[in-house]
Amino acid sequence: MDPVRNSENMSAIDLAHHIHPFCDMKDMARHGAQIMARGEGIWIFDSQGNPYMDAFAGLWCVNIGYGRKEIGEAVMRQMNELPYYNTFFGTSTQPATLLAQKVTSYTQGLMSHVFFTSSGSEATDTWFRLARIYWKVLGQPSKKQVIARRNAYHGSTVAGASLGGMKHMHEQGDLPIEGIHHIGQPYWYADGGDLTPAEFGLKMARELEAKIDELGEENVAAFVGEPIQGAGGVIIPPDTYWPEIERICRARNILLIADEVVCGFGRLGSWFGHQHFGFKPDMASIAKGLSSGYLPIGGVLISEKVAAVLAEAGDINHGYTYSGHPVCATAALENLRIVEEEGLVERVRDDIGPYLAQALKTLEDHEVVGQVESVGLLGAVQLAKDKSTRQRFKDPDRAGRVVRGFCYDHQLIMRATADRMLISPALIISREEVDGLVQYIRHGLDHLREQNLD
Ligand code: PLP
Repeated sequence: MDPVRNSENMSAIDLAHHIHPFCDMKDMARHGAQIMARGEGIWIFDSQGNPYMDAFAGLWCVNIGYGRKEIGEAVMRQMNELPYYNTFFGTSTQPATLLAQKVTSYTQGLMSHVFFTSSGSEATDTWFRLARIYWKVLGQPSKKQVIARRNAYHGSTVAGASLGGMKHMHEQGDLPIEGIHHIGQPYWYADGGDLTPAEFGLKMARELEAKIDELGEENVAAFVGEPIQGAGGVIIPPDTYWPEIERICRARNILLIADEVVCGFGRLGSWFGHQHFGFKPDMASIAKGLSSGYLPIGGVLISEKVAAVLAEAGDINHGYTYSGHPVCATAALENLRIVEEEGLVERVRDDIGPYLAQALKTLEDHEVVGQVESVGLLGAVQLAKDKSTRQRFKDPDRAGRVVRGFCYDHQLIMRATADRMLISPALIISREEVDGLVQYIRHGLDHLREQNLD
């Protein structure tokens, strides 16, 4: 191997010069970075050639799997034709315009427009500003406050981290910024007590109504939620939750924003998560599965209702150098062509999603598993100290780390949020790979049981 590229050298270079996102700096100093070199399907190979089953599709994004040469070829053609031009001041490029048409076509007529960004975080900042512009144009400039949920994740920019409900993010940088408020998350297993999931879903949705009352309807611009909270622990809301949220937003005249960055583009077996739950947002942020992570691109889908008001706004003083980047838009178009041609959304809905659900359910007999839930290819295994009483481990973070660490050491990449093990594989995962995944997780659970944690 090229001596400069061998993994030990790379790790040392990385340690000397690279600060990583969401990374324990002390831990990093001890272990250095693991350098990943190649991917194929749902498998990723490190620079020593060791294979890892990636049950997390990178970061919930590589929906079509690794190693799809078609994307590289399409991108190369566009690179050679026109590597960059901006979409400011009324110019566009063919890929950006065609992608706008394509991406809105999946919304069942709900969203007429899209504003492009390079990431989900930028998408969050974009709808946050557009929501305020919307109410200003309508002559209600006091409607500025935005309500989000605890443990939500909407990105790492200042507005994104503020809207997200992660305490450990708020603590670094005096967040949230002004004008952002949080209500609870619909996490029945942890907080449902004696309520049925249906009762609990209504209870949590009605926290929105109480918050609007507290702030004054005339001051609230919008509510935002991920259809299923991803990084917060794959929190699948009871069926009663979203219809009640939608009813409240309509009755109290506030915009409903769906963060579709994880749920969009087939993960739940529908083009968008709001379609799965049957509600109609006014705007929706997208990223990740839009290009399967092959190149960075995101955006905000905008309903006809909102677009019609923005059309009266005059100048919209917001945008990114790379909004609608032609090469990234080309990667997204090619990705969506593959998703359509291979029927991946339908595959998740009718075939591999139900198969994963059934396979995961077999884990519910395990002593340290309290509940298993999934929609499409987004799933969670809830760990429990005593499943009969829904008692959790004393240190839920540690329990999750034990299982995640064991799996990683045995070459399965999955993630944990506290004591929930999260699963989000590429949409092309085979049945055999699902079987292997579930078997590996079971070994991880056995290992946790052997630790005898309190
Ligand atoms: N919204 C959700 C639901 C996410 O999960 C993420 C990233 O994980 C984001 C927004 C932010 O996206 P990005 O990391 O592309 O900025």
